[in-house]
Amino acid sequence: MHIRLVLTILLHLLSIGLFAQQQKANVLIKNACVFIGDGKDSVFMNVAITNKRISYVGKELINADEVIDAKGKYLAPGFIDTHTHADRWIEDRKRNQMLPWIYQGVTSVFAGNDGFGTYKVAEQMKKYQQIGMGTNFALYVGFGPVRQAVLGDDNKMPDATQILQMKTMIASGMQSGAIGFSTGLIYLPQMYAKTDEIASLYQEAAKWNAIYDTHMRNEGAKVLESIDETIKIGADFNLPIHISHLKVSGESAWGKSEEVIAKINAARAKGLKVTANQYPFIASMTSLKATLMPDWAQEGGAKATLARFENEDELSKIKRSLQQKSPLVYKRVVLMSKDQKLAQITGKSVAQIAEEWGVPVEDAVITIFKMDIGVSCVNFSMSEEDVINFMKQPWVMTGSDGGGLHPRTYATFTKIITDYVLQKKVMSMSWAIHRATGLTAETFGIKDRGLVKEGFYADLIVFDPKKVKVNSTFANPEQLSEGMEYVFVNGVKAVEQGKGTGSLSGEIIKK
Ligand SMILES: [Zn+2]
Repeated sequence: MHIRLVLTILLHLLSIGLFAQQQKANVLIKNACVFIGDGKDSVFMNVAITNKRISYVGKELINADEVIDAKGKYLAPGFIDTHTHADRWIEDRKRNQMLPWIYQGVTSVFAGNDGFGTYKVAEQMKKYQQIGMGTNFALYVGFGPVRQAVLGDDNKMPDATQILQMKTMIASGMQSGAIGFSTGLIYLPQMYAKTDEIASLYQEAAKWNAIYDTHMRNEGAKVLESIDETIKIGADFNLPIHISHLKVSGESAWGKSEEVIAKINAARAKGLKVTANQYPFIASMTSLKATLMPDWAQEGGAKATLARFENEDELSKIKRSLQQKSPLVYKRVVLMSKDQKLAQITGKSVAQIAEEWGVPVEDAVITIFKMDIGVSCVNFSMSEEDVINFMKQPWVMTGSDGGGLHPRTYATFTKIITDYVLQKKVMSMSWAIHRATGLTAETFGIKDRGLVKEGFYADLIVFDPKKVKVNSTFANPEQLSEGMEYVFVNGVKAVEQGKGTGSLSGEIIKK
């Protein structure tokens, strides 16, 4: 008994000694209301950062070079954006600070979604490291470039050899540390792939613990069939499925969120890991081509489509398909472009443009395509009820789909706080944080991020919830959000007292 007591005292003295020798922290954030990121209630604590990592979380006052008093403020893990097109964004060096994300408190983004990510993942990672990144990046291997490399933009089915070629490409991307395998089944040439082809490619990717992330084949009238297809892709081998920008689009599909949720819950009840991400807006955004052009008319790529406009039979077939769409579609599809040539039509609906030009909508659409076959549009296609219905599900995370001229690029995470936590009270603050941090990291197998925890990377945000503000609108989307007082990316300040520092401390997240 005596010896044990002496030993305990010795150990205690030793630990105090070790503590004294411990490196002085770089930053101590004290008196913060801390959301760990695990969905639980906040706790008043102090958090210290040493180099890239969180070195202390607790009640003690740690010795540090800099002390930030966060009294009255929230401290949380930096947000993880599950769906972006930021890969296109950062390649422009002026934009590699990732300001729209940083100002929302986003410290990590996934890119290569919708099947657009390259399979040359190692090359891509190296390139991004050279460019420098304001946020961390995790990359998907996208189905698009893989299928295009093997089968072109044509409506063809792969043979066994071609399947093997695609698998080899996917495997090389996964080996380099990609986070998953993404598809966008409304896009060329991915739209031609059948369910079995996609399932077999995913089974290859899954050897590296990939997650399947999909922009489903249909988010409108046939959304339930698409949910079935998506679940089938994971079901045979019990592989996880992640549905991107979950929605029901178009008046005919409104209200179907109930059935979509029921199908997903049924699959989850059987043990399949089905999850989703969502942005908090009733308008989507994609190319006008993907929104309006029939699949067959897109075969072979943009040049082939433009050539079809010169062929009388094909042109009238395209026009017929455009005429068959509900007139509501043309009212809610609004063109978005920064191209000066399109200045007279940007911000206007197709119906509005047709009226101004004094032509039928189908003629207006063809003329717009001739001006820019790749032009983007926003589509006010969702109902707020469905958006909220999905938002309430415990398996739904936050994903901006950001990158384009849409407020979702600038204000997805801030709008969740202002509109859906504080104003409409759809969810609690701790859940809004969890579904953008800990839940995301856990779902995608990201190590050492997504929680305020000792040893984890110091991706941290400090904010006053009352000061969080959305500035981006559809009329004027390129406006940064406000309210993040401090944003740390790998221990480095990306935002200090509400202003971007220009830091490029983002790293590649490898799986
Ligand atoms: Zn998408």
